[in-house]
Amino acid sequence: MSAAVARATLLIVDDQPENLAVLGGLLESRYEVLVAPSGERALAVAARQPTPDLILLDIMMPEMDGYAVLHALRENPVTRDIPVLFLTARGDPGDEEYGLSIGAVDYLVKPIQPAVVLARVRNQLDVKRARDLLRDHNAWLEAEVSRRVADNRRLEDASREAQARLNHLRELILSTADEGIYGTDADGVINFVNPAAAEMLGYRRDELIAYPAHAIFHHARADGSPYPEAECPLVTSLAGGLTLRDQEETFWCKDGSALPVAYSSVPIFEADRLLGAVVSLRDISERKRYLAQLERQSNFDDLTGLPNRNLLNDRLAHAIAQPRHAPDGALAVLAIEPDRFQNVNETLGREAGDRVIAELAERLVAHVQPADTLARLEGDEFVLVADMGRAELASDLAQAIIAAMTRPMLVDGRELTLGVSIGIAFFPKDGGHAEELLRHAVSAMHKARAEGGGRSHLYSTDMDSRALERLELEGELRRAIGNGELLLHYQPQLSLRTGRIVGAEALVRWRHPTRGLVPPAAFIPLAEDTGLIMPLGEWVLRQACAQNQAWQDAGLARIRVAVNLSARQFEGQDMLALVTAVLQESGLNPACLELELTESAVMKDAEAFIRTTQQFKALSVLLSIDDFGTGFSSLSYLRRFAMNHLKIDQSFIHDINRDPDNAVIAQAVISLAHNLRMSVIAEGVESEAQLAFLRARGCDEMQGHLFSRPLPAAEFAALLGSGRALELPADPAVPTRTLLLVDDEADTLSSLQRLFRREGYRVLTAGSGTEALDLLATHTVQVIISDACMPVMDGSELLGKVRVLYPNTVRMMLSGYTDLQAVTRAVNSGELYQFIIKPWDDVKLVEAVRAGFRYHESRRAATHGVAQQFVPDGIQAVP
Ligand code: C2E
Ligand code: CA
Ligand code: CA
Repeated sequence: MSAAVARATLLIVDDQPENLAVLGGLLESRYEVLVAPSGERALAVAARQPTPDLILLDIMMPEMDGYAVLHALRENPVTRDIPVLFLTARGDPGDEEYGLSIGAVDYLVKPIQPAVVLARVRNQLDVKRARDLLRDHNAWLEAEVSRRVADNRRLEDASREAQARLNHLRELILSTADEGIYGTDADGVINFVNPAAAEMLGYRRDELIAYPAHAIFHHARADGSPYPEAECPLVTSLAGGLTLRDQEETFWCKDGSALPVAYSSVPIFEADRLLGAVVSLRDISERKRYLAQLERQSNFDDLTGLPNRNLLNDRLAHAIAQPRHAPDGALAVLAIEPDRFQNVNETLGREAGDRVIAELAERLVAHVQPADTLARLEGDEFVLVADMGRAELASDLAQAIIAAMTRPMLVDGRELTLGVSIGIAFFPKDGGHAEELLRHAVSAMHKARAEGGGRSHLYSTDMDSRALERLELEGELRRAIGNGELLLHYQPQLSLRTGRIVGAEALVRWRHPTRGLVPPAAFIPLAEDTGLIMPLGEWVLRQACAQNQAWQDAGLARIRVAVNLSARQFEGQDMLALVTAVLQESGLNPACLELELTESAVMKDAEAFIRTTQQFKALSVLLSIDDFGTGFSSLSYLRRFAMNHLKIDQSFIHDINRDPDNAVIAQAVISLAHNLRMSVIAEGVESEAQLAFLRARGCDEMQGHLFSRPLPAAEFAALLGSGRALELPADPAVPTRTLLLVDDEADTLSSLQRLFRREGYRVLTAGSGTEALDLLATHTVQVIISDACMPVMDGSELLGKVRVLYPNTVRMMLSGYTDLQAVTRAVNSGELYQFIIKPWDDVKLVEAVRAGFRYHESRRAATHGVAQQFVPDGIQAVP
């Protein structure tokens, strides 16, 4: 603008004093600068006359933000027309888009760049000035004209003068404004145009003058379709003498390219006669490009470049609106998700996880037709919208995708195989709109996952209510853990030798405020899926250990408590540390805690599992394999696990005495376990017949309704205190477990005798080798423990004779010193089953003798026709 024009006034609004200082410093050499540190203050300053020419307005301000300030400015007639430039911080594209949509003329991104600020401010001021000139002119013209209308004699002069002034103004505007300006007569024929407008449109000025504006550069809409004059706002506003402000439209350049513009059109009257209009326009292609980029960012996923949820919803809505062509054609929505992606992130890290997602996306793209949409939603969720010729093809497509996605991939030098689950919903059968179709495809996917994953599932209506119920349940379960709604029931585990309670399995229950007592089958799988199993499992462990310690403190018989652990509990946390901490807190002897693990936990990563079990073993915590026989246990691994118990699954017990297959399996499992020095517990024992069968085959323990259902803690304590035991009828097929103790020291003999009577064995004692041989002649003895150091006949000599006379007897030797040579000789020659060092640890000695009996029984079972191989462990010292 020319120097003759007064300096423009800017109002800068920002709550940060530094920003005010920086912007103020930059602009004050050229403009009058007012500042306001808050929205309220800004409104007051802006309304003061003369009003500022331009407001630079920060969006993020406390109390009243920039949007609210802009609204308030627009409400007040005094400030309504002041252009506002938004100041936004980088990184929130939504701000700018929204700001422009509610009427800001432009935006500046902080941190500000001086050159950009100066250029934008100058542009806006130029535009403003041109508009003001036009407005002033009109006002002046109207005033002049109406004043002089009364004076007919001077009318002509006035109009001439007005014309002259108009021409003068035109020239001023035309030559100075950066924005394009053209004028038309009342018919829309161009009668003046400034260089900027001609340049924007690619014409020479003389190529435009005297041509109808609409026909020459405003004939089509943005998409190229014709723009009938009757529908064009520029034409209609002119015809109606109306003002248009900041309209967006597409004008067409001489070379045929589209030019997005923002324009204002102001009608020009002389008296009541419409002379034409002045249109000012700004090239907004840069702004458009920017908006398009914002849109892309909000429509596409950065990582894979695939459409995101936004765009998916649009496309899906669009696809739904299309008429289907093939008579049995179907629009299929496939929800696709890898089965255990969480593991990848947890074990390999986010970055590797991202690479896996990108790789999966690439594999998926191979199955997409040009008309289909493949989108990535949050995380590892993909959705494919495919127009299928026939509905059945959707399942084939799902199969092909599963095959492709399941192919191993190399991540950080490791080979990784991910399963994938797919849910399929069809339009219109399974949903009438995008959101519903998606939701249904996802519930079908969850169903596929629940069935083990690696498969696809078609949506069916009954899934929906179940999915809802599940969602509801998840929220409730989350609360239940903290709310004390969980409790434990305890089911007795009994020795089949003594009939007495030796342990209790802790089984969780949920006392739901409205549903009543919920069984674990209804919420444990959900807890596993959602990760809630971690806090839940921790609570169970704490509670069970504390309860067992409390029973012991109350003087009840010392028993072990068994706690179920899910495979997932090993994935996300350090179980060893947790168990150690819980034992410490409760003060419970580790040997009184048993962890029940399923084969699935075992098989996920066998090597890691072997390490973990050995660490637990070192803690002296007992371990048991639950549900044995239902998984796909590898027997070679089983040998390497440090397990104490093996639990034969209920399904084998159920018709053990009717189904020969189950009987054979149960018997084989018992022998196998005994060979591996594990004891066997049968669960789900409901009948006397089952009990008799199991006892006859050397099963060690049982658990089941035959003796007791799981009981609340108080009832269990009462049962334990009552001393009630399982009635075990004398069974000739079950020889009494008889242990012969040989030692020349009476004290040792009597303390050992006490220890083993508690085990329910018949215990014989002998003070010398000769006495021992006499007893062996008159009694059936399965296990003999002899002191090594005795006068007359020492331990080696005695056991050497026993070996010849009673080869099936399991022979153990107790020794106060370690004469390694003698021991090695004895073990290698097969004289000894086990060597035990004095002084011994009661718990370990008892366990060794139990193992000895089991070994004996499994050899006996072998001679009854159960196949087995036994590899003795050689020397095993029990310190
Ligand atoms: P499980 O570990 O196999 O537990 C044995 C299930 O058999 C228990 O069902 C028990 O009540 C039931 N049962 C016991 N004796 C008999 C019988 O003679 N006949 C029949 N038909 N059933 C018998 P429950 O308590 O419903 O537990 C079901 C499953 O829930 C458990 O199976 C276990 O896998 C899981 N579970 C229970 N509590 C927990 C827990 O605290 N943590 C974890 N991770 N899982 C748990
Ligand atoms: Ca169990
Ligand atoms: Ca079980």
